[in-house]
Amino acid sequence: MTAVAPLKSVDAHLDDILSAVGPLPDIELQLLDAHGCVLAEDVSAEWPLPAFDNSSMDGYAVRAADVEAASEAAPVRLPVVGDIAAGSGGGYSVRPGLCVRIMTGAPMPPGADAVVPVEWTDGGVASVEIRRGAPAGTYIRRAGEDVQAGQQVLAAGTHLRAAQVALLAAVGRARVLARPKPRVVVISTGSELVEVGNPVPPGKIHDSNSYALTAAVREAGAIAYRVGIVPDDPKVLIDTIEDQLVRADLVVTSGGVSAGAYDVVKAVVGRLGDVAFERVAMQPGMPQGFGMVGDDRVPFFGLPGNPVSTMVSFEVFVRPAIRRMLGAEPVHRPRVRARLTAPLSSPSGKRQFARARLEVRSGEYAVTPLSGSGSHLVAGYAAADALIVVPEEITEMPAGTPVPVMLLERRQA
Ligand code: AMP
Ligand code: MG
Repeated sequence: MTAVAPLKSVDAHLDDILSAVGPLPDIELQLLDAHGCVLAEDVSAEWPLPAFDNSSMDGYAVRAADVEAASEAAPVRLPVVGDIAAGSGGGYSVRPGLCVRIMTGAPMPPGADAVVPVEWTDGGVASVEIRRGAPAGTYIRRAGEDVQAGQQVLAAGTHLRAAQVALLAAVGRARVLARPKPRVVVISTGSELVEVGNPVPPGKIHDSNSYALTAAVREAGAIAYRVGIVPDDPKVLIDTIEDQLVRADLVVTSGGVSAGAYDVVKAVVGRLGDVAFERVAMQPGMPQGFGMVGDDRVPFFGLPGNPVSTMVSFEVFVRPAIRRMLGAEPVHRPRVRARLTAPLSSPSGKRQFARARLEVRSGEYAVTPLSGSGSHLVAGYAAADALIVVPEEITEMPAGTPVPVMLLERRQA
């Protein structure tokens, strides 16, 4: 009888992974390619924002003193000497007793110190009737009121979302130094697998893991290359991984890591580098492969094939690794404490990640375990928006117990 090695703890496995992966080297990226990446330089504005005083309304640029007395009952009529559109280089100045029609974003003409919005007037073109006074400064956006020339606008380490991309464009940056998104190659293994879109002969199933993992990689903020299905054939598997290594910062396979006769990933991936196949004290997802493959020592995850085991393993191990490679903190999903609405049992000696739905009831989080812990229950997993994390030593929890809950937010970071 061979002795069975003790299970490795989830924390020890995660520590091994996170100490083996690190942020990718910075590269200069086109602005939109940097969207979703972490900025690797401090960015300062060369000029102020706004760059010049401009109108914040469509209306008339006036001298405040000329319209001070204007009211509905006693409007002031001023000749309009011209139009200044947004983007116009100017050319007009406003002398006493005159005004210029001005559009939102157009530069304030010299001499004018207020804008009367068109709504306070009769909208005249040659001359305009103004029905309300506008003190100096009215509806003027001042140069530098957003950003001063030379001011730092973003710090290295900032995660570039749409608003930060807008700011970089506004300060004129077409390219920035950033941490590139990891390129993650996703491979499903299993001779029973059929590509979605094709009929499934008896005994076969559709490959769902490569779709699940590709989507999860994207949600984690990385670039996914879905390679699809590789049969349980050592040569095809090795050749496929070797071919993919040129474009991979990370390789993730599913299936073939347990103790079955055709568990080909476990049997052969070690030939490509240092990969350990271990039994981790968790449920679902006990068999786990992790290591480095190829000359460039690309991180490799061999996840178990059961669809829920694959996805939970991704959440617990792969997603934090991707976040670490992105340079994005925190690497972990947010956790909250919630009260169990129903009893929950859990295997002894394993950390259980139980599918659940989280809601707020009377001002506190309440979490309901979803029925079925089978690792093949894809529909059950799809109904979950959270995982209850049940500590290793706990086997029974009555309703009302406060529990830690990992949130599975359905959005990109
Ligand atoms: P394995 O880890 O290869 O022993 O697979 C465990 C279970 O997961 C088996 O029932 C497989 O058919 C199933 N499975 C493996 N890979 C996939 C996949 N890509 N999509 C759906 N089910 C899979
Ligand atoms: Mg298999």
